[in-house]
Amino acid sequence: MQELGHWIDGKRVAGASGRVTDVYNPATGEVQARVSLASKAELDAAVASAAAAQPEWGATNPQRRARVLMDFVRLLNRDMDKLAEALSREHGKTLPDAKGDVQRGLEVIEFCIGAPHLLKGEFTDSAGPGIDMYSMRQPLGVVAGITPFNFPAMIPMWKMGPALACGNAFILKPSERDPSVPLMLAELLQEAGLPDGILQVVNGDKEAVDAILDNETVQAIGFVGSTPIAHYIYSRGCAAGKRVQCFGGAKNHMIIMPDADMDQAADALVGAGYGAAGERCMAISVAVPVGERTADALIEKLVPRIEKLKVGPYTAGDDVDYGPVVTAEARQRILGLVESGVKQGAKLVVDGRDFALQGYEEGFFIGPHLFDHVTPEMDIYRQEIFGPVLSQVRANSYEEALKLAMDHEYGNGTAIFTRDGDTARDFAARVNVGMVGINVPIPVPLAYHTFGGWKKSGFGDLNQHGPDAFRFYTRTKTVTSRWPSGLKEGGEFHFRAMD
Ligand code: NAD
Repeated sequence: MQELGHWIDGKRVAGASGRVTDVYNPATGEVQARVSLASKAELDAAVASAAAAQPEWGATNPQRRARVLMDFVRLLNRDMDKLAEALSREHGKTLPDAKGDVQRGLEVIEFCIGAPHLLKGEFTDSAGPGIDMYSMRQPLGVVAGITPFNFPAMIPMWKMGPALACGNAFILKPSERDPSVPLMLAELLQEAGLPDGILQVVNGDKEAVDAILDNETVQAIGFVGSTPIAHYIYSRGCAAGKRVQCFGGAKNHMIIMPDADMDQAADALVGAGYGAAGERCMAISVAVPVGERTADALIEKLVPRIEKLKVGPYTAGDDVDYGPVVTAEARQRILGLVESGVKQGAKLVVDGRDFALQGYEEGFFIGPHLFDHVTPEMDIYRQEIFGPVLSQVRANSYEEALKLAMDHEYGNGTAIFTRDGDTARDFAARVNVGMVGINVPIPVPLAYHTFGGWKKSGFGDLNQHGPDAFRFYTRTKTVTSRWPSGLKEGGEFHFRAMD
């Protein structure tokens, strides 16, 4: 059995708490590793040595820091297959999807190579006689990131890239469900030249998270995960005077107008609804066709596409559309929600409950599900399912469809499919959701824009990656300087009469 510990001061170390948890291969259901769960004392020790290492890294010029990230990008590309394999083995997503996970993190690291430009600060020449004023962006010191299971490469990189580029030391507390890739990322960063102690990977659960919240040296926390935990960390972190940004769950609506290209809309819905088994915070989980005819036409297009989906292990190669969900508990919860949908009166048009895969009976696979006639009171509409379940809610008008997306407590992403620019513009301007797609089902912004949801999907005032990340991981110091005039004229040698 593989034993996974932590990455502390530039090496893998075994956990000392005596507490461990199982790491599964979701495709087979087997326990393939055990990961240590850090104690408060282990977390505090990791922070203390990060704090000792940080001043030198913070004082290293930004271009040299960026060069470490530049080499990290090269190494990520070199080891792409290895990283993707380790990721798929613990998460269950297909290999192309796992490569996408690494790639979307890598792109943020590429953006961070521009740190010297992003950290330049501001300067006002001659704010007064002989007076200049300038603002510097300085690192915070030791900062922490707490990340979810569903993107074990991308989200740690979204956090560590900007934090390190800005000169901070970074404590990463990854998900205990798939801890291998974060440890591999730490090894690659060391190979790229990151000094020891600047990145510490501390595996753990609530005890490690609470230790981060209670540690006075930790200046900032970036969290991604479910909304109840996001809210908990945001409230406690802010109360402790830390800078905190927390990104939570989602229920992303896609509105399909009667003028939309129905084939395109159906293709988009299948990819965005079932890709990665629905375990994406930007997955589309609600389809809202406008008008009964649109709804009927969409169902007609969706059903054959969904029935053709291939569900299987990542080892089956590129032929698989999506893999298992992450744990047996996740599977249980998703199937429980499907039952509630049936009980509460939604029409189960595609039923994946009896799905079984020969040779993988113990794996955490779930067949695709499609519900029609879902209404806003149902649990399958109100809750984030985070599985391969798409719900269709029928709307009578554009305004009714817009209101559905606006009234939902989550506000991460949304999309509209239409041929009408006026409707699209109106939707983008009015909807109270952080990321909007127009004929794009999963509108994940690229690295140089920022990523963040509204309402219960995001707590805090700055987004992830893009320029916001450089604001989040630095604080501003403003200097007003005045130099007395006259020295450059040299000394005076003549006797001057009194005026
Ligand atoms: P999760 O909330 O269970 O776990 C996230 C992190 O919090 C993990 O590191 C975990 O160890 C820790 N944690 C779990 N329970 C805790 C507790 N009681 N106290 C303190 N820490 C705790 O989330 P998950 O299941 O790993 O990830 C899926 C969720 O993440 C979904 O809700 C998804 O929508 C969300 N997500 C959001 C975004 C976004 O950018 N908005 C991106 C990816 C995932």
